[in-house]
Amino acid sequence: MKFGIDIGHNCPPDIGAKGIKFEDNLNLDVGNKVIAKLKALGHQVVLCKPTKVDTVEESLSKRCTIANTAHVDIFVSIHFNCFNGQANGTEVYAISEVGKKIAKSVLDEITKLGFKNRGIKDGSKLFVLKNTNMPAILIEGCFIDSPKDMKLYNAEETANAIVKGLTNS
Ligand SMILES: [Zn+2]
Repeated sequence: MKFGIDIGHNCPPDIGAKGIKFEDNLNLDVGNKVIAKLKALGHQVVLCKPTKVDTVEESLSKRCTIANTAHVDIFVSIHFNCFNGQANGTEVYAISEVGKKIAKSVLDEITKLGFKNRGIKDGSKLFVLKNTNMPAILIEGCFIDSPKDMKLYNAEETANAIVKGLTNS
């Protein structure tokens, strides 16, 4: 299988949210672990994060172009959430039926770690899901401004859960 792994933000001026922790650091940490683990299982991985952009729009657009040009089988965008310090848990966005099936598989694995299951969400307003040509999901791992989630969060466990969800789906 050929996976397009999109490590969210991490490309100024496209930068992630700041809570108790900085989203960019978590996206990068979990994303790199997911990439290494998928490769270790014999899968092909295309990194969809661009290296240099001038605008957020260009950052998002390039991520889709990289995935579409490489004809990846599944596009996976890795993010962490930030809201009001109270909200917590995991949610995964998708548009297509195939995408939603993959999203459920990943969501089920991450929530087994103890995070609240916030469900599969409609990703039809998310640029990278709308503009990729293959089944695509966007994972909001947990909330970086939630003390509960940040106590529970472990990059290695989160990456293992994502890989298990992706490869079993
Ligand atoms: Zn994000």
